[in-house]
Amino acid sequence: MIVMKFGGTSVGSGERIAQVARIARRTAEETGAPPVVVVSAMSGVTDCLVRATTTSASGDRQTFARIRDELQQRHEQAIADCVPNPEHAHSLRAEIASLLDWFEMLCQSVATLGELTPRGLAVVSGLGERLCARVTSAAILSQGIASEVVEATHLIITNGELNSATPLLQLTSERARAQLLPLIEAGTIPVVTGFIGATADGVPTTLGRGGSDYSATILARCLPADEVWIWTDVDGVMTADPRIVPQARTLPTLSYAEMAELSFFGAKVLHPKAIQPVAEAGIPVRVLNSLQPGHPGTLVDGQVILEPMVKGITAIRDVSIVTVEGRGMLGVPGVAGRVFSAVARSSTSILMITQSSSEQSISFVVRTQDTPAVVSSVEKELELELRRRDIDNVAQQDEVAIVAVVGAGMTGRPGIAARVFGALADQKINIISIAQGSSEYNLSMVVLQDHVDGAVRAIHDRFQLEAV
Ligand code: ADP
Ligand code: ASP
Ligand code: MG
Repeated sequence: MIVMKFGGTSVGSGERIAQVARIARRTAEETGAPPVVVVSAMSGVTDCLVRATTTSASGDRQTFARIRDELQQRHEQAIADCVPNPEHAHSLRAEIASLLDWFEMLCQSVATLGELTPRGLAVVSGLGERLCARVTSAAILSQGIASEVVEATHLIITNGELNSATPLLQLTSERARAQLLPLIEAGTIPVVTGFIGATADGVPTTLGRGGSDYSATILARCLPADEVWIWTDVDGVMTADPRIVPQARTLPTLSYAEMAELSFFGAKVLHPKAIQPVAEAGIPVRVLNSLQPGHPGTLVDGQVILEPMVKGITAIRDVSIVTVEGRGMLGVPGVAGRVFSAVARSSTSILMITQSSSEQSISFVVRTQDTPAVVSSVEKELELELRRRDIDNVAQQDEVAIVAVVGAGMTGRPGIAARVFGALADQKINIISIAQGSSEYNLSMVVLQDHVDGAVRAIHDRFQLEAV
């Protein structure tokens, strides 16, 4: 059994959705079993939905009305392009219109209340997947195969962190098996809404932006499936983001650990949490291009291959360095522990940590959007030390980025850091701080945001990754 997920570009138009339907049909024919299809919203739709809710919270009633019209037009055009049967198209248009009526009503309520709650945001931002799943299922039906829409709110049961929820695997497994297996046995292709889930009490949640990849790997783990295929708009996982390095090459294979590092450090092609459920169960993941279905893409599994040493270069933008500094920190026990507990209390995850050996400062990197909450939580924790001047200040530097060099073959090989730093020095790029993961699978550095593209290209060049 295959779980296959199609991202925003792959379902970006009626034509693209028709291609999705063909891929699903071909897979059913070739493997002898219908695949479970997971879809994202059409490209750009989730951004529009989020904008509609945030503008309505400030009392703006025009933006969401305009967005509603745009979404209706876009989905109607898609239906016209991939659902030829007039009756099917007619009832589908009515269904889309009624979901959009509901969206408009929610935005009206947000505008009246003047407040957007996390629950309101989760409900509205998941609407794009619900619209797209309906069109995709109808397109599959048009290919002559039975298909049904399955709302992930009935399948993926999560904790209550409404906009970045974690799945409860036992419950999800029971629901997913009970609902999906009978459909598959009957020869029906289920089309599941990506990105969304619900708590056990039925409160809608999302898995966080880009979370449809995670939906697919959660379902694969829970069914369990034989493989997960992530269909996207590039030829698999590449040595760098092809938008930054046009010469980037497809990596034919990667280990789970390498993929986890690449996605954690910014390779948007897979959601950072998506590898975990399948790595634990040993389910292989293929990353494929829906625009070029014949390309073999990338196979991610448990096999660790050490060559080439460096597999990929990634970057995370819009991060800040927070530094806690002061001569009085020397000898004050437990400062690091208290700082990191304070960060955890602000519900923020730390991307990278560095401490100088003098023990006079601790620095760590968090997303810039999280920095105000982090700084205030740390200042509160260290109030006494700050007052006594044992600690001088909690400083923040914005407009920096993390560049990470990833590869299992880097372990125990001397000279890699020297080559990386040499490549940056030749481009006159200053390294602000450095960290190496204990696995030695990655070496990460902080540079000024303005230098990030140059840094990625310089390292890619130095390791000749275009020739991999
Ligand atoms: P989807 O909508 O299919 O989920 P995303 O936009 O989320 O697609 O992810 C695919 C994009 O990820 C690519 O278009 C590419 O620009 C970007 N990307 C960043 N790093 C990498 C990488 N190392 N390999 C492949 N793509 C990458
Ligand atoms: N549509 C969602 C987003 O844009 C989820 C996804 O595309 O994976 O974040
Ligand atoms: Mg994505």
